[in-house]
Amino acid sequence: MSDDAGLQALREAARLSPDNLPLRRHLAGQLLAQGYLADAEAEFRAALVLAPKDPGITAGLAEAFVRQSAHGSALAALEPLLAEPGYPPALGVLAARALLGEGDTARAGYRYHEAISRDPSVADADLAARLSPPPAPSHAAPAQPQGTADPVAPPVTPYGAPAPPYGVAPGPVAPASGPGASAEVEHSKLSFADVAGMDAVKEALRVKLLLPLQQPELFAAFGKRAGGGVLLYGPPGAGKTHLARAAAGELGASFVNVGLADILDMYIGSSERNLRATFDLARRNRPCVLFFDEVDALAARRSDMRQAHTRQLVNQFLAELDGVDQHANEGVLVLAATNAPWYVDVAFRRPGRFDQPVFVPPPDHAARAAILRILCRDKPLAEMDFDAVARITDHFVGADLKGVVDRAVEAKLHQSISAGRAIPLTTPDLLAAAQSVRPTAVREWMATARNYVMHANDSGTWDELMPWVKGKW
Ligand code: ADP
Repeated sequence: MSDDAGLQALREAARLSPDNLPLRRHLAGQLLAQGYLADAEAEFRAALVLAPKDPGITAGLAEAFVRQSAHGSALAALEPLLAEPGYPPALGVLAARALLGEGDTARAGYRYHEAISRDPSVADADLAARLSPPPAPSHAAPAQPQGTADPVAPPVTPYGAPAPPYGVAPGPVAPASGPGASAEVEHSKLSFADVAGMDAVKEALRVKLLLPLQQPELFAAFGKRAGGGVLLYGPPGAGKTHLARAAAGELGASFVNVGLADILDMYIGSSERNLRATFDLARRNRPCVLFFDEVDALAARRSDMRQAHTRQLVNQFLAELDGVDQHANEGVLVLAATNAPWYVDVAFRRPGRFDQPVFVPPPDHAARAAILRILCRDKPLAEMDFDAVARITDHFVGADLKGVVDRAVEAKLHQSISAGRAIPLTTPDLLAAAQSVRPTAVREWMATARNYVMHANDSGTWDELMPWVKGKW
């Protein structure tokens, strides 16, 4: 029997016995193993209804999310279990993968090392290579299972970082503190010149964000007012955060960067207060770009986990975004980013909110060369052929290219230390580093996007993605 026929039989059996938990669990596992990620997700959800909080099923669901780049949703799924002392270490590894997918290397590292210290058999060499070495257990998050925290230690969020200083009345500028501080005010020195490629995206942001503030009379003449938000979406590592930071710098605005998973992490009931405090922080620092990363974690439309609580948070978020009056958010530009736009609640896309999602694409050849040039510009360089490196880094996004440059620089630093002088970086250094770095999941992301564009695009929401998903990945 072929795999597909086997699966077909299993699906049929599950349809006939919807309450047969072992069968549904088996079907879900098979779907996951064979890469039918959306179907696996649906099956794991169905199984979770039969056995809420089952760690194996939760792990399967989280894995299906991670492989679809829905990292925020994976973390939301894992959160209730991670909050319990002695949770299965395999879940910690999954959380680490999701956190890494969100670019949160520090917390991914805590999670991973905490998990393998309890069960070395869950080690994942590939993941370990992408993480930094275990952090020294100093003032930051102790590698300690949740729920067993020392009562005098700082509060710890379910993902292992100390809770941010919300609840403490924030001053005019929030303190910049350790890894758990999720809302702090930055003054970005980046501008659009520091963002390679993405001309169409930069233009869209200019019109939507910058021009209304720079030329208010023009916008007023057409009855438009500044405000609302822009939803940036695209594969992880393609530069959404970088772009948001550059938009703030371009505008001379302050920048507040919030991981939504952080807000969700915090003690139940305080999340609404944290959200309000975050918007207030931005309002006190206007003009301000308020950036919400992993917005799918809040707007997990299809997630039935903690639904009532999530719904309440979505409403609060939208109320803050709409503002109590038309001046409430003047000078506050809200950018949100997601790797999984299909999970974002449609209420977010109503006019005046995030009504124009903007796709941040993976870089093409020319953009990769330009990103490499930017990443290398403050390093000692020999004559460089960035085009040659761009040619062998198909499917690499900005974050991957940063990994390549970091690796090459590290090797060069060792050589320079031995030689006692700075030895410039060369093209072969970058080529060698590129060969040892594996690109992140752009191909998988495109496969997921293709599913949505082809099968769930009735309203034309994903038209912009059409030419991309039809390309070769
Ligand atoms: P995302 O938010 O989409 O996951 P990031 O903005 O965190 O991705 O990108 C990771 C890093 O890659 C950035 O810090 C930046 O150094 C680099 N990068 C990504 N895209 C670009 C770009 N277009 N130009 C210059 N650097 C980039």
